[in-house]
Amino acid sequence: RRAERSLHEQALESAQQFYLKSLRASPDAIAYLKKRGLTGQIAQRFGLGWSGEERQGLMRVFADYQAASLVETGLVIESEDGRRYDRFRERIMFPIRNGRGVLIGFGGRLIRPGEPKYLNSPETPLFSKGHELYGLWEARQGIRKEGQVIVVEGYMDVVGLAQHGLENAVATLGTATTEHHVQKLMRASERIVFSFDGDRAGRKAAWRALQACLPLLRDDVSIRFLFLPAEHDPDSYIRDLGLEAFRACLGEAVALSRFLLDELSSRHDLREAEGRSACVHEARPLFAMMPEGVLKMQLQRDLAERVKFTPEELAAVMGVSTTVVS
Ligand code: ATP
Ligand code: MN
Ligand code: MN
Ligand code: MN
Repeated sequence: RRAERSLHEQALESAQQFYLKSLRASPDAIAYLKKRGLTGQIAQRFGLGWSGEERQGLMRVFADYQAASLVETGLVIESEDGRRYDRFRERIMFPIRNGRGVLIGFGGRLIRPGEPKYLNSPETPLFSKGHELYGLWEARQGIRKEGQVIVVEGYMDVVGLAQHGLENAVATLGTATTEHHVQKLMRASERIVFSFDGDRAGRKAAWRALQACLPLLRDDVSIRFLFLPAEHDPDSYIRDLGLEAFRACLGEAVALSRFLLDELSSRHDLREAEGRSACVHEARPLFAMMPEGVLKMQLQRDLAERVKFTPEELAAVMGVSTTVVS
């Protein structure tokens, strides 16, 4: 197992060296990065590369392109008829490292219109999208310096924020935020700010993230949500409006408690008994997920106010005890 692991690591590192070299040799790929506002220094910091255009570019790297392990790493794809070709072609390569700095996979973005715009390494025992966060390794010092971790949707958001001086951002890998992610985030910092795209998908992603946070809520961890204007993501926002404007948004990020209650309230007409009742029903499973603690008690009190219950009445309906545990 250990040997297999290091074989994978070696293959990925060899590919990474190839992608770095290919970038230096590709004016088109370099022009793309420049167009996106990135300097060579930031590209280097994140180890950005270029996959090249050849169908079997990695043949130049691996003496045995037919080795079984190459398919297992996800670098090479085998089609039905047994023909092999590189998974990543014509893509800017984002190396993904785990919390210990070990290379575990790649994300790749096309530099010209096409589908899919982004492609990730496939799921393997070494690379699980529900567990890993892009940029966590690179951000470890920035997180300490800023005293918080920013969670964004995309590779380019992480890199774009770093380009403007915010080096504490990490991204989920094109998947919804999981409890595993939140656990990792809480280990990295006691202040977490989710900053997803301003569109509907981003808002939905924020609600999913909130749900992943609920079972892990702690009175000593601050979780906030930053909602950008609909047409922006963190990368485009900081590029158009600058670091200070983005910092101002960060300062106005909404506490998890407020996002939860505002979202619940907005889904129902709380002027009517029916709406207040439906709101309580929707809140019940969410509150059931939360561990007991002062924050949960506060949230229950605030919800009770909105649905015109006394805290005792609400607790009775929610099937939880009102007894205060110190
Ligand atoms: P860019 O600014 O380069 O267009 P983005 O990060 O703003 O990229 P989004 O469309 O907002 O792109 O997607 C956010 C993230 O979701 C991406 O970074 C990627 O991880 C993932 N993603 C987006 N599109 C795809 C796709 N077609 N297949 C797989 N993952 C994707
Ligand atoms: Mn989006
Ligand atoms: Mn973007
Ligand atoms: Mn985006």
